[in-house]
Formats: sequence, C-alpha cells, structure tokens
Amino acid sequence: MKKIFFMIFYFFSPFILILSLWFTNSNQYSNPLILTSMIMGSLAYTWISLQFVLSARPKFIEVPFGMDKIYRFHGIMAVVSILGAIVHAIINEEVIGESIITTIGSAALVIFVLISLLTMLSMTPSFILRYPPFKWLKKTIEAWKKFTYEQLRFIHNFTVVAYVILNIHVLLTPNARNNAFITSVYIFYLVVSLSFYLYHKFLKPAYLQKNKYLVKDVIKENDDVWTIRMQPTNKKLKTHIPGQFAFFSFKGEKQRFLEHPFSISSSPDDDLSITVKELGDFTKTIGQLKVDDFVLVEGPFGVFSYVNHPQEQETVFIVGGIGITPVMSMVKHMSIHDPNRKVLLIWGMNTIADQVAKDMMTEIVARMKNLTIIPVISKDSTFDGEKGYINQEMIKKLTEKVQIDQSVTGYYICGPSILMDNCIDALLKMEISHKRIHFEKFAL
Ligand SMILES: Cc1cc2nc3c(=O)[nH]c(=O)nc-3n(C[C@H](O)[C@H](O)[C@H](O)COP(=O)(O)OP(=O)(O)OC[C@H]3O[C@@H](n4cnc5c(N)ncnc54)[C@H](O)[C@@H]3O)c2cc1C
Repeated sequence: MKKIFFMIFYFFSPFILILSLWFTNSNQYSNPLILTSMIMGSLAYTWISLQFVLSARPKFIEVPFGMDKIYRFHGIMAVVSILGAIVHAIINEEVIGESIITTIGSAALVIFVLISLLTMLSMTPSFILRYPPFKWLKKTIEAWKKFTYEQLRFIHNFTVVAYVILNIHVLLTPNARNNAFITSVYIFYLVVSLSFYLYHKFLKPAYLQKNKYLVKDVIKENDDVWTIRMQPTNKKLKTHIPGQFAFFSFKGEKQRFLEHPFSISSSPDDDLSITVKELGDFTKTIGQLKVDDFVLVEGPFGVFSYVNHPQEQETVFIVGGIGITPVMSMVKHMSIHDPNRKVLLIWGMNTIADQVAKDMMTEIVARMKNLTIIPVISKDSTFDGEKGYINQEMIKKLTEKVQIDQSVTGYYICGPSILMDNCIDALLKMEISHKRIHFEKFAL
C-alpha cells in the first residue's frame, strides 16, 4: 500500500506545477510547442527536486522498496528528467530565443548531463555500458583519468550546485516573477530538497557521532578477507534483521573517513560484525584497523532477509565469494531461531581456501541437522566435489538431492553480477516464481 501511494505521489507530483502554470497563463499554452516545453520543464524540475529526497535514504521510502531499487530508480529518473530538460531547452531556444534566463538554465543542464554521464560510465553498473559507444567513452575517460570512487562521489555532489542554478533559472522566469503562487511552489521544492540534502550530509552524521561504535576485534579470515567486530559506545543500532546491510565509516590511522556499504555478517543476537574482502583503496586497509578505532554506522537497510518471507518454509542460498556475508547472518539466525529448517547453501568459490567463517559454519552445521552446505569450486580441478560455475543443471541436481520442495522454498542469491544474472535466469527457467527469488547486489 505504501509503495503504491509513493508511486502515485511521485509520478503525479509534477501536476502541481503543470496545473499552476496552465491556470495562470492558459492563453500562452494554446501553442502546442510552448505547452510541450512547459510540461517537459515541469516534469524535469519536479523530478530533479525529488532526486534529493531519494538520495537522502529516508526510512519511509527505503523500508518498503529497499535501497538497491531506490538507487536504480534514482538513476533512471535522473536520465528521464534530463531528457525532459533537454526537450524543454531545445523548444525554448527555438520559440523564445536566447536570453540570460535560458543561458542560466542551460548552465545547470550542462552540469547535470556531465555528472550523470560520468556517474553512469564510472560509478554504477549502468545498463548503458552494454552499448559499444559508451564502452568506448568509458575507456577513453579512464585512459585520460582513472577516478577513484571517492572522487566520483565528490564530483556527484556538484549536482546540488546545478540544482541551485536551476532554481535561479526558474525563479527568474516571467511566470514566477509575475505570480506569487508559482514562486511559492518553486520555493517549496527548493526548501524541501535542500533540507533533505543538508540533513543527509550534515545532520545525520552529527547524530551518528553520538551513537558511535568501537572496533573490538579484527579477525583475518583468509588471505584477503577480514571480519571486524564492533560494540556500541552508547545506544545499539536499531536492531537489524539478518541479511541487512549498513553504511560504515571507520576512523582509523589508515582510513579516510568515508562511508562504505557492507552487509552485516553477524546475527542480530550477537555483536555487530562485518566481513570484508580487500578489493580497492579502502578495503585494502581494513585489516589495519585497531581495537577501539571508532566507527559510525548508518542503518540498517535492505529487504534481503528470509525473515521478511514467513510463508517460505525451506531456503536455498546461492552465493558467490564474499556474497556469503548476508547469508552468514541468516544461517546463524536460523540456527538459533529455526534450527530444524531445511536449508541448502550452494557456495561458489575460486578455491576452497576462499571459504570464510569456517568455525562458525562448523558450529552451525552441528546445530542444524537439515542444513547442507555444498562448496562449488571454479579454479581448482583437483577439488573433490562440485566443480565449475553454478548453473541451472547444478542447482536442479543439488536441490533434488536434498529434496527441496520448490513450492515452499525461498531462493536467496548474492555474489558477482554474472553469477546473480545466470542464477536468476536458471531459477526462472526452473519455473520458480520471481516472488520467491530474492537477491542483493553489492553495488548501488
Ligand atoms: C549493499 C551492499 C553490501 C555490501 N556488502 C559487502 C560485504 O559484506 N563485504 C564486502 O567485502 N563488500 C561488500 N560490499 C561491497 C563494498 O561496499 C565495496 O567493495 C567497497 O565499498 C569497496 O571500496 P574500496 O574503496 O575498497 O574499493 P574501490 O576500488 O574504491 O571501489 C570498488 C567498487 O566498490 C563500490 N564502492 C566503493 N566505495 C563505495 C561507497 N562508499 N559506497 C558504495 N559503493 C562503493 C563501487 O561499485 C566501486 O566501483 C557491499 C556493497 C553493497 C552495495
């Protein structure tokens, strides 16, 4: 219900502006070109304003949808809004000609276009990268300058500058100057959007400082994976459900204080832990954290949890590599709260040495007699067990072997994009309803 309400509100919100403009100046809009320009401009303005609400991750939107869907929607709506703004700008150029007002609007548009393009090429796993011209553009930019994720995030913040310029543009238009109601609609959007932005960037971190965590253990799991256990100094983070993630900002000697998303690998019954694979600038320093280094934790977020699906009686986890982390939390939780549950964990790894949390898993297996863990090894032909990449045939064989009842089972997938895409495809081909296929992408 909340979802439908939000979608209706979101998609119909530009009508406040469209109708206000129409009723204050309907003669002007008898020209279809001017009408189209006004509608496109209103859509673009309203949806760009709402982008700042989405990216502030408010709970009232995150809880019903989940963070990954919100970020994907944020990306799609950025493109849609910019296309609307481009149509608006082209028509205005034709019909009204160039003026200081259109120049200011174009300046905002150029900044939005450049930042969005850079974001889609280098920051997110965007669909445009499937097309050769965009692949080429990405390569060309990277040959010129390889931006770190942190630099890209810093550049992304300039959208707020573009948004302020956009507001100067709309407030200077004759429609706004001659009509107090139109001006107040623009001011309302400006105040709401900037409030969400400022809350997200400044107020929230200040609040999190009060409830910081301290590092209590830094455990080496294998060559490049670490588990960090933390305890709160004051109040505990709102209790997570197993499978959720949070944003962590570590203040250690070697770490730049910047938030990174990690799944919580501990059960809600235990101290908060994350399990991290060394992949880039920040994660390569994770093992150098010291006991009592402090951590800000924002969350929990996400909907990837068997707890959200009480109608499912059995569970199949399909994971690849470090994608095991949310599953660690879920199986630990099951071992305490539902130890008789039938569970199959198909765990793809390069070599068996990549396995993490061996002691914990051994302990859980001892407690859950209906839990079967099958490692699938892709880069060691001498391994005595399942070898290769997880595919439809393997999932079918293993689920049949363990006598999983497809009609009451939830399927949870987490790992590299290629594994997730192939396994979702395989499950759909096995006629498993998409409602029972759940996944978490380690990319926002
Ligand atoms: C929901 C979610 C859960 C995750 N859970 C885990 C986990 O349990 N264990 C684990 O090892 N990894 C997890 N990750 C991935 C982890 O966030 C990245 O590996 C880490 O942030 C990389 O940072 P880096 O500076 O070391 O690497 P970089 O080389 O700077 O980044 C590598 C990639 O990681 C992503 N990334 C980097 N920084 C950020 C950031 N601040 N915010 C968002 N994405 C970023 C980007 O896609 C980037 O291209 C998760 C990611 C998400 C989105």
